[in-house]
Amino acid sequence: MKVLVLNCGSSSLKYQLINMEDESVLAKGLCERIGIEGSQLKHEPEGKDKVVFTDYMEDHDVAVKMVMDALVDPNHGVVVSVKEIDAIGHRVVHGGEEFASSVVITDAVKAALEKCSELAPLHNPANLIGIAACEKLMPGVPQIGVFDTAFHQTMPERAYLYALPYEYYEKYKIRRYGFHGTSHRFVSEEAAKMLDRPYDQTKTITCHLGNGGSVCAVRNGKSIDTTMGFTPLEGLVMGTRAGDVDAAAITYLMQKENLTAQEMDNILNKKSGVLGISGVSSDFRDIEAASDDGNERAGAALDVFAYKVAKRIGAYAAAMNGVDAIVFTAGLGENSASTRTVICNYLGYLGIHLDSYHNSLRGKAVEISAPDSRVRVLVIPTNEELVIARDTKELLDK
Ligand code: ADP
Repeated sequence: MKVLVLNCGSSSLKYQLINMEDESVLAKGLCERIGIEGSQLKHEPEGKDKVVFTDYMEDHDVAVKMVMDALVDPNHGVVVSVKEIDAIGHRVVHGGEEFASSVVITDAVKAALEKCSELAPLHNPANLIGIAACEKLMPGVPQIGVFDTAFHQTMPERAYLYALPYEYYEKYKIRRYGFHGTSHRFVSEEAAKMLDRPYDQTKTITCHLGNGGSVCAVRNGKSIDTTMGFTPLEGLVMGTRAGDVDAAAITYLMQKENLTAQEMDNILNKKSGVLGISGVSSDFRDIEAASDDGNERAGAALDVFAYKVAKRIGAYAAAMNGVDAIVFTAGLGENSASTRTVICNYLGYLGIHLDSYHNSLRGKAVEISAPDSRVRVLVIPTNEELVIARDTKELLDK
């Protein structure tokens, strides 16, 4: 079975074609600047040269068509015909309270997704456009939706309710949902395998640290709490997102600077985080370099970031009454040994010691704690596309 995994953003589309016989990636790529001048498709076929197509992509229909063409291209393709694609798995950002697991996309599911779009106006509409484009270009091919929020639907009420008037939860579904669920699920499962423990008897704290970041408490295979909330803005300090801020500071600032809700939203999501504190960049590599050069605000940004991750790990160890393993994943979590060290330096009370050699390794799943560490610490590269493809296969096999 060959599964095409699609992740449609508002002006981008990422894809992977996965052969489920051995879970190998046949091709992957990225369409950028859809509907914007300068569109391009970067296509990476396995075993062949990478190629960039620069035809203008007016909309997602055109982008999906170009991806199909690239996959069957005589020089750069990996299949003879698109008929070899058995199913399409879509990453869908928000499944609201409707979807606690992946689903086959039907008309009823699409209607429910439309409703969820109100909760994720930047993401879900693009996901729906991608689904419609595939229906048009590959009619009859089953499509599956895999939600960023689904894994966290097991959070208990005490973790997901905000202390706002209850009527707003009833009327607008304002509550904590959590995101990056596909990643937290994957790395927590992999962690249990590495620890050689049953997944349903393991307590892990997973730290997905990329441009966006979240920490999740996974008890016995279920998410019981996570740092992102109603939107992916809550929680940690991120590349450009503020994370937790006293809500009164926001209303105060709006009054002082005469800001509209949209302007404030833009500041919180695009101009804050480590970019906001440092004034240097949203990319942690740039900030680490600036800090090494003596830039104090860059140093402060890294400190605030790491301190907050460490506090959340402490909170979740308390929430689960213990923890077997802490997992680092995503761009920063997988690659920055110094960030992992700074975070783990706060965790001596958990009996954590790192092994500096293993902490310096890159690009593979590895245990980085020392043999005498009471809680084990793992680095596990995330693979959301593989989870989407596996869910797609599993639903079709049923
Ligand atoms: P996204 O959330 O966009 O998927 P990624 O998971 O790809 O993001 O993570 C991107 C972040 O990871 C960037 O801020 C980047 O600086 C950081 N990163 C990647 N490699 C390194 C590294 N070697 N050292 C420090 N940070 C890194």
